[in-house]
Order: sequence, then C-alpha cells, then structure tokens
Amino acid sequence: MRVPRVGVLALQGDFACHAASLGALGVDGRRVTRPQDLDGLDALVLPGGESTTMLRLIEGQRLREPLERFLSEKPVLGTCAGVILLGGDSAPLPAPPFGVLDVSVERNGYGRQIDSFCAEIEAKAVGGRFPGVFIRAPRIRRVGPSVEVVAWRRSDGAEEASEPVGVRRGNTVGLTFHPELTSDLRFHRWFLAEVAGLDVPEAPVSGATTGTPAARGRS
Ligand code: GLN
Repeated sequence: MRVPRVGVLALQGDFACHAASLGALGVDGRRVTRPQDLDGLDALVLPGGESTTMLRLIEGQRLREPLERFLSEKPVLGTCAGVILLGGDSAPLPAPPFGVLDVSVERNGYGRQIDSFCAEIEAKAVGGRFPGVFIRAPRIRRVGPSVEVVAWRRSDGAEEASEPVGVRRGNTVGLTFHPELTSDLRFHRWFLAEVAGLDVPEAPVSGATTGTPAARGRS
C-alpha cells in the first residue's frame, strides 16, 4: 500500500499541528511553500492562522494559480483561516478568496482573540460529539445550495443543533474550528478516508510526534 502524501500549506499559521495529526495517522505530511511542492500530492490542508497574511504570502510565492488548479481537482481540508480562503466572500481581504465553497464567512465572527472558546460540536460524519476549539474563528453566515453542513455548534445548553461550523462540497471541506489542536484524530481520519478516499495506514510515521497538542494522547 502506498502511503498517502498530503500537503499542508506552510506559509504561516498552525501547519505543524496538522502535520503532526497526519503523521499520527501514518500519512506522509509535506509542507507546501512553493508551487512545485504541490506535485504528486493526494490532498492538501489549509491550516488556521491569519487569512490576510496567508493570502499575501500566496501571491508573493506565486502560489495562487497552482493552488486554484489543485483546489479544482484534489481533496482539500481548510480549518479556520483555511475556510476563509476556501469561501466565497469574507471581506475585508487583500485578495479574493478561492471561492470553491459557496459560503459567506464573517471573519472574527465571535469577536476578538479574548473571545476565543471551546464548545462541543455535533458531527455525524465522525460519529457524534467532537471538542471544538474556536480561536478568533470565522462564522459561516450563509450556506449555498451546493454545500452540505457536516458539523454544527450547539448553542449553550440547547438540545438542538444550532449553527454550521463545518461544510463540505464534494472533496472540499471547511471547518471553522481546529481539530488539529486536540488529540482527537477523527476529523482528519474522516477527511482522508471518506472524503479523499485514501488508505489511511493508522500507524504513526516515526518522527511524527513533535510534542504539539495534536501529537499527544491519541484517540
Ligand atoms: N481570525 C483569523 C482570520 O481572519 C482566523 C483565525 C484562525 O485561523 N484561528 O484569518
């Protein structure tokens, strides 16, 4: 079995935590900083960080067109700032987002850094409840007809699922929270196996443990 090769856009943000999660699942996680780094990848992760900075660096590294091509063909998981890049409109940004998910995203939709929070989310795709880490998170304000909601945030104390925090269109997934900052690998596993159709080895690649939160206490 060929070990899947999955890129993590590594211009800025928490790419190392995603790489640790991929490594813990036995996947060959590769940093992407230049157009040629996309060659031969089976899928890509756009990490959390600062979407404005990432967009500037994408232009500076001449990654815009190669990424557009990649996103139109291959599986992509965007988390937090990553979902801003994948979305349709999320002004103000220094360059247009990629628009592969028909969603409107409000940047910093819950407030400032101090308003970051953890909340339980509900996602059938990963078997139910999941710990959601929201850091200056974007808020999905509109979901277009082509887009499926795969994760909901429950409002405090409410039994009913409330607002969308994870969306999918085909092989493109956007999450407003950070599964890579937990020790729970279910979202990465689901993306790789079910969305991207890759064989996930499950055995950690040696050297993958970096001491990041995602590398500790695996489920
Ligand atoms: N607030 C950031 C932005 O606008 C996203 C935060 C995150 O990725 N944790 O890009």
